[in-house]
Amino acid sequence: MAAALGGCLGSFFNVVVWRLPRGESVVHPGSRCPHCGHAIPFYRNFPVITWVLQRGKCAWCSGPIPRFYVLVEAFCALLGAFWAYGWMGGFWTDPAKAVGWGIFAFLSVPMALIDWEHFEIPDSLVVVGCVAGTVAALALAPEDLRLERFVEALKSGLLSAGFLYAIHFASRVGLGSWGALVRCFLPKGIRWNWRHGQRRQFLDVLVRWARFHGDMEALGLGDVSLGLAAGICLGFPSVLMGLAPAAALGALGFLYRRSRPLHQNRAAQLGIDPQAIPFGPFLALGFLLASLFLRDGVMLR
Ligand SMILES: [Zn+2]
Repeated sequence: MAAALGGCLGSFFNVVVWRLPRGESVVHPGSRCPHCGHAIPFYRNFPVITWVLQRGKCAWCSGPIPRFYVLVEAFCALLGAFWAYGWMGGFWTDPAKAVGWGIFAFLSVPMALIDWEHFEIPDSLVVVGCVAGTVAALALAPEDLRLERFVEALKSGLLSAGFLYAIHFASRVGLGSWGALVRCFLPKGIRWNWRHGQRRQFLDVLVRWARFHGDMEALGLGDVSLGLAAGICLGFPSVLMGLAPAAALGALGFLYRRSRPLHQNRAAQLGIDPQAIPFGPFLALGFLLASLFLRDGVMLR
């Protein structure tokens, strides 16, 4: 059942990821074929299954339905199964922790996909995470601990967001002043087309560093709001401990991006380096992994 529900959520997330950044309603109109625009009735809208039965084609125009949509659905189905299996197997002793993890894990899917594509994390998804996490903490707490858990959730959220904001601020100041320092030693006009021997290599290195200008940051403000939702759903220790795995995963993401940089036009449109990656997807994954190890507030022995 959890896998089926996960698959349905994945199907909905495909709609969210497409429509939310374009400012369209996520509920109306219903799903449509991307080629012929034919409305898809509910009996042809089963995640994964419909795609397999129709061999990846639209029932009306036979246009191919991208495999990516099915991968998202299948991933969410697996996530649902993993979560239910873990909960029933007694992995989490505190139901509030289990539900908080589930909420953040599922919300991470559309947040990560939108961040990867558009370099932004929609506030609406963050708000959903914050509200759902707070409600779960309240509803699943023992009667006499309700207020305590509620305050704890809010405190964790604010602490996490504040901590990430501090990194954002420090990195901006640090990288910005470093870039300005290097740039003031570089003579004007040689930056990108110096063509003479060894001095060129030395200058190349300097120029690369100088490219870390003030607009570049280790963490964006979107990541700070992601931290707010993560703190409420998972707790501050998971956010703190999740930064290391997030950085390691982000390095892998950067290696991938280096081999497949953003298209020039797209990078210019977004106002970023073609080799830049959004940190949100990796942060979310890092927080979730750390939370699995810290599930009851203590390290796994
Ligand atoms: Zn069609």
